[in-house]
Amino acid sequence: ERQRLGRLRRLPAKLTGGEAVELQANLELPAELPLIAQAGAAGIGLLRTEFLFINADTLPDELEQEEAYRSIIDAMGGECTTIRLLDWGGEKQSEALSSVGFFTGTTDLNPALGLRGLRLLLQNPLVMETQLAAILRAARDGHVRILLPMVTTLAELRMAREIYDRVVRRLRRRGVRLPDKLPQLGIMIETPAAALGAETLALEAEFLAIGTNDLTMYTLAVDRASNDVASLYDPLHPAVLRLIGHATDAALRLRRPVSLCGEIAGNPLVVPLLMGMGLRSFSMNASAIPRVKQVVRQAALDECRRLARRVMEESDPHHISRLLTEFAAR
Ligand code: PEP
Ligand code: MG
Repeated sequence: ERQRLGRLRRLPAKLTGGEAVELQANLELPAELPLIAQAGAAGIGLLRTEFLFINADTLPDELEQEEAYRSIIDAMGGECTTIRLLDWGGEKQSEALSSVGFFTGTTDLNPALGLRGLRLLLQNPLVMETQLAAILRAARDGHVRILLPMVTTLAELRMAREIYDRVVRRLRRRGVRLPDKLPQLGIMIETPAAALGAETLALEAEFLAIGTNDLTMYTLAVDRASNDVASLYDPLHPAVLRLIGHATDAALRLRRPVSLCGEIAGNPLVVPLLMGMGLRSFSMNASAIPRVKQVVRQAALDECRRLARRVMEESDPHHISRLLTEFAAR
């Protein structure tokens, strides 16, 4: 079995009809880089940058961050590295947040609904500018994209774009050599507002990454970190699937690259459904790539589409789950 999965690494991720599917890796720690190479990932679809800031008493400076990003970008060769700006707050570091010196504190009782992700960055432009400048410097000789976490409004995206442009201008003024083609600026779709507003956001975002971990939490009003309501946390709930479908359709209509990088992207049972809904790019834990590739290579697009149509008619998540299991066993 291991050998067979190892051989898969060199085979393309293509459906039986030849349609190409992009399988990328999520990276949380640089130590996972060898795993990515082993798995044969087509780049990094989500680099979570929180590792640089966790346990840091002071803001990691531009040079420190640049080196960290460069070593990852270099390791990816010509493959794309999608770097997400710091997604602090929420369930990730809610307790640590107020004690971290480089952020203005928060007293929110509901941190997941308060200052987190892009909201927090926009209130702390120095943190955001330092990170953007470091990424731009590190991106000189690689293929890099920049991803904004926790977007809910077009105004936030516009403010982020302004800060990005400002950092570019400042670096140019200082004579810093930047990549010929600047890294694209994309957004996470991980709130219902972003999913339902995807056609508006996609007009100004250069790519979309659907984050189903948070999208599930915010859609179902179920804390992803809570044990008490864990049984209600279900990314296959029809409401979540409709939002994924809506955002995907919008991106495809506007010809914006769209990928899915929540946990379900690495679930071989769910991927045929997602392909049937139109998605062709998935980012997941590197260890999940071989099995997902196997499923992709055995799937026919018209069957995936039929599956998606049936699933979208269902109102009971348990039935949906059964349809996916039956499809896998056929
Ligand atoms: C998500 O929310 O689906 C996601 C990919 O981001 P994270 O898990 O880091 O919040
Ligand atoms: Mg998220």
